[in-house]
Amino acid sequence: MARATVCLTVDFDAVSPWLHAGEFGDSPVQRSRGRFGAEVGAPRPGDLFDRLDVPATWFVPGHTIDSFPEPCERVVDAGHEIGHHGWSHTPPGEYESREAERADVARGIESIESLTGSPPAGYRSPSWDFSPYTVSILREFGFEYSSSGMAREFEPYELTDEHAPVDEPYEVGEPVGITEVPVSWQRDDYPALAFSGNRAFADEAAVFDHWRRQFDWMYEQYEGTRSGEGGVYVLTLHPQVSGRSPRPSMLRELIEHMAAKPGVEFATVGEVV
Ligand SMILES: [Zn+2]
Repeated sequence: MARATVCLTVDFDAVSPWLHAGEFGDSPVQRSRGRFGAEVGAPRPGDLFDRLDVPATWFVPGHTIDSFPEPCERVVDAGHEIGHHGWSHTPPGEYESREAERADVARGIESIESLTGSPPAGYRSPSWDFSPYTVSILREFGFEYSSSGMAREFEPYELTDEHAPVDEPYEVGEPVGITEVPVSWQRDDYPALAFSGNRAFADEAAVFDHWRRQFDWMYEQYEGTRSGEGGVYVLTLHPQVSGRSPRPSMLRELIEHMAAKPGVEFATVGEVV
């Protein structure tokens, strides 16, 4: 039984976030950041995972699969899990209707099936948000898990049909049959290490040290509640962010630090579920 489980997750967005209008989106220069992620960034953590022999879960928009098939095939050939991350990387709340959101999810499944031969078990929302329809769409397509929510820190939980009108008390609701393996903005490279708007990125060494201290806290203090197993530590990386030097070396040091502790297992999110 693992004392602690580590899920290395990669949101392989490539160009897809830069197709959308917004503060910085929809421009050739922004898309060049995504090209870097696909053409240069992704092989770096990919090679690192191979060398250290650790599995990862890559949440890949269909747009990335259809635009950059080669790096996606390398991920599959290396034996990693492929999860759903939208087709067009549209934040679910921005769709005009359930049908539009559903069509994008369906198209993303088709792209993954063309890459791996089977539908994905897991879904990670682009932007880590759900529309009012997302849960029912995930149920309709038979997803086993989501990795987009934050109701727990180091512990999977069940998605529910919550009741949340603005003028009534909140009700958690009943489980809907989908496991949530929670993410954290604290363990995502993007807010800390990607330039966005007028916000500069944080000190790299401090960020990696923060991730290490969170892992140590979980390892030493968190007992978990599922079958007496320890916590599940989900780290989220973007190739266009963590693929830039010298971050791959810092990531290697972090993974080696975690792997050196007794009872630590590395698993895909699907395996945890
Ligand atoms: Zn993304």
